[in-house]
Parts: sequence; C-alpha cells; structure tokens
Amino acid sequence: MIGYALSFLEYKDLLRTSTSISVYFEESLMRRRWSLALYLAMALAPLAYAQSSRQRQGDVEKTASGELKIVPVTHASVMLEWSSRVIHVDPWSQGDYSGLPKADLILITDIHPDHMDPKAIASLKKEATVIIAPEAVAKTITEAKVLRNGERTTVTLGKPLTIEAVPMYNLTRGPSPGQLYHTKGRGNGYVLDFGGKRVYFSGDTECVPEIKSLHNVDIAFLCMNLPYTQTPQEAAECVKSFRPKTVYPYHYRGQDPQVFANALKGEKGIEVRLRDWY
Ligand SMILES: [Zn+2]
Repeated sequence: MIGYALSFLEYKDLLRTSTSISVYFEESLMRRRWSLALYLAMALAPLAYAQSSRQRQGDVEKTASGELKIVPVTHASVMLEWSSRVIHVDPWSQGDYSGLPKADLILITDIHPDHMDPKAIASLKKEATVIIAPEAVAKTITEAKVLRNGERTTVTLGKPLTIEAVPMYNLTRGPSPGQLYHTKGRGNGYVLDFGGKRVYFSGDTECVPEIKSLHNVDIAFLCMNLPYTQTPQEAAECVKSFRPKTVYPYHYRGQDPQVFANALKGEKGIEVRLRDWY
C-alpha cells in the first residue's frame, strides 16, 4: 500500500517523504523498518525505469512519409527511426544502447573517438547496414561508403533518404597556434531529407559560412563545447543566421545549454529543445 501511494510522488518528494516516514516508524520494530525499506525500493524502481523510458521515447515529428522518431543517446550520438528503419548518428560506447535497435544506416562525422567508435559500430551493425562517412573515417571503418564535403547521396530506407555532407571545421580553435582541432575537408556534418523534413547534424564545428548558408532546416543538432568547437553564445548566434525551426543543443559536455536557450529566447519561429544528453 505504501508502494502504491508513493508511486504518485515526484522523485525528490519521495526522498523527503521517506525521511519523515522513517522518523514515524522510529519506535517500531526493526522488522517493520526493513519492510518499509523494501517498499521504498519497490516504489523507486518503476520511477527510475519510467524516467529512462521517457527519455527513450524521444520526440516524434511528422513528415510527408510518416513519423520520424528522434532519440538522444549521448553527446553527439542520436538515434532516428523513420519508415520502420533505424539510423544511428555517431554511435559511441559511452552511450546506453540497451533496448535500442540495430542500425540500417550509420552516419559518422569525424575521426575522433566520440564520433568514430569501431566497437559501438560493430555492436549496432547488421549484415545489410549502410555506413556513410568522410574519407578520413573510411581509412579505419573500411566498409564505409565515402561522402565528401558538398556531396550528396540517396539511400533507400524503405523510402528514399537524401543525405548531404556539410563541411565542419574550426575557424580559430586548435591545440596550438597555427593548428586547428578540425581541419576543413576532414569531417562531415549532414543534412538528411526525410520526405521534405530536413534534419541537420553539425558534427564538431565553429559557425562556418557553409552552415550560415544552409536553407530550410527543420531540425538542427548543434555542437557547443570548449575548447574544441564553439561557445553556447556563438552557437546561438549561428542559429540566428540559418534559422532552423527546431534546434537541439548537443555535444555540449562542460557547457550550459541553458545559456544557449536563453540567448535564443524571443527568437520567432525557433524552438530550442533541451534534452538530457549526459
Ligand atoms: Zn566531438
């Protein structure tokens, strides 16, 4: 009965309630306290499950060719489901892939381990999985189909899906003077066209001219983390230049995505979606 009552409480209220209940039972027999602990454990377990499964449910978008499901996994890793087919972007072993389906298509943006992870790729790959990556990645992931900056290809995922590679690179930031973390031409951002709904993944980049000139982006995933890419403020300014209808801050470890959201408050026609990536 206690377990049933607690299932209606929020997590933090539950912790507070558990303290007062345990005081209430202070004079009770040890046996009763143990049974209370058991009740609490039983009440907490489904709440924790509900939280993780809520995140797993992801966001659902309507496209001209059915629903597009978007599941943030971690950092730069995202799963998309469309037309009963599964796409994994930059799968990384640090993400929790339990319960997620294997990939029909895998997109890799760059050679760094948070984007190119052979172990994660192997665990999500099926025999017929198509992998698309820049040339620098294909040196390691040899079965990948190479797509270069500016090139476009169409993959049939039940329905045709057009994929365009967008340059991603640093303008100023690098490990030492004269060097950049991401050199132009090595990595790919991607624009995916799901029956007219265009979804953009930035990969690791600063706000380069090729991003500013993107058109008709419905959903954008934009990176922000120092020292490797850009600040949340720079990312927000970047968003104002190409004006996606919806934007997810991602790849933001160490930065506050709320700063990004605040910088875009009041921008008409741009929705910022904060999700739990870490
Ligand atoms: Zn990265």
